[in-house]
Amino acid sequence: MVVELVSVGTEILLGNIVNTNAAYLSEKCAGLGLSCYYQSVVGDNAKRLFDTIKTATERADIVILSGGLGPTEDDLTKETATKVFEKELFMDKKIKEQIQKYFAKRGTKPTDNNWKQAMVPEGAIAVENDNGTAPGIIMEKDGKRMILLPGPPNELIPMFEKSIVPYLEALQPGVIYSKTVKVCGIGESKAETMISDLIANQTNPTIATYAKTGEVHLRVTASADTEKEAKKLIKPVVKELKYRFEDAVYSTEEDVTLEQSIVELLKKNKLTVATAESCTGGMVAARLVNVPGVSDCLKVGYITYADKAKRKLLGVRKGLLKKKGAVSFEVAEEMAKGAALFSKADVTIATTGIAGPDGGSDEKPVGLVYIACNVKGKVKVKECHFSGNRMKVRESTVANALIFMRECILEYCNEMEYTRQGK
Ligand code: ATP
Ligand code: MG
Repeated sequence: MVVELVSVGTEILLGNIVNTNAAYLSEKCAGLGLSCYYQSVVGDNAKRLFDTIKTATERADIVILSGGLGPTEDDLTKETATKVFEKELFMDKKIKEQIQKYFAKRGTKPTDNNWKQAMVPEGAIAVENDNGTAPGIIMEKDGKRMILLPGPPNELIPMFEKSIVPYLEALQPGVIYSKTVKVCGIGESKAETMISDLIANQTNPTIATYAKTGEVHLRVTASADTEKEAKKLIKPVVKELKYRFEDAVYSTEEDVTLEQSIVELLKKNKLTVATAESCTGGMVAARLVNVPGVSDCLKVGYITYADKAKRKLLGVRKGLLKKKGAVSFEVAEEMAKGAALFSKADVTIATTGIAGPDGGSDEKPVGLVYIACNVKGKVKVKECHFSGNRMKVRESTVANALIFMRECILEYCNEMEYTRQGK
């Protein structure tokens, strides 16, 4: 089934708000096995909104609209969508009561325009809104469907999860099941090239790639009559992806993050960790702290932004800082070694780089970053060149530091295993 998204709001067109609803809905629809070929953003203008909705209903089986369901004059979505389906609006008593209750609970009174929200197109389903007054609307005409959702994400998301997901699932025969293979340290284009043959021949299951900083998620989705059959279809594809990406696969679980997989790896191997950060200013440690129970392995995080801090807290030599500069291979190495010496952690990770916008030179441009990782006395240093603004450079550094740390730990574990087997 084909779905099309229409985001309504002049605020989105002007860039005043980011269209996070579209990102959320796209991902959810893909997960439900719906194909989305077009998405549009349209302002609060009756004529343009009418044309956009009309075109969308001609191209797709289901049109999902977000925004413009509020009580004010510029909220036109329901009225316009109703016109496209050539229907009339009626006052829905149940919703009127719900609105009354919503205001009574808050000790306030509805204004006249609130009753506009109790108007429902004939034959439509009004979807309860647990977090606001505007109900969602589901309507159908000649096999085409429209789903209208409120704009505020704190209303749209719970409504979608609670009422729209079951509705969409029921529209499709069988079940949709998906599994995500999470890969790190390989760029999206390289990842796609590595599986281009699988992507070219895909029908059921399908493989979709999603890129995140430093990571690529490969979602394998199958449809079948039963969950068991869908799982059976997915299994060999997941196995093949794991085979192709080897150690770069950090998880196949939906809710496991990169940092979580690293913390598990540390715990499994009884290793402790410490961070020594300059340009990332604690962001690497913060990612590790996202994981509950990290206190078992995270000893300390040093934020050593100034040269003096690098010397005092990590023992980086003054002469080295002067000779090579704070952003250098050698200083990164000494930061990682110093962090190990002072914290007694088994694994230490250090970052130093030029995040910009100032401070770059021909020799050391903005985006130049050194990451050093020490695992039980063995230090490795990586030189990276990142692009983008200050935040982007810092985020890329964090992701790459985590990935580099994971690689170094895996290498250490493999060596230990090799030694153990050799004995
Ligand atoms: P309200 O009753 O609050 O007016 P509404 O359904 O009419 O709700 P809009 O007026 O279009 O929705 O938007 C209300 C607010 O919801 C916006 O100011 C914005 O904060 C948020 N919002 C709307 N559309 C989006 C979107 N596509 N992505 C993210 N947030 C959005
Ligand atoms: Mg509004």
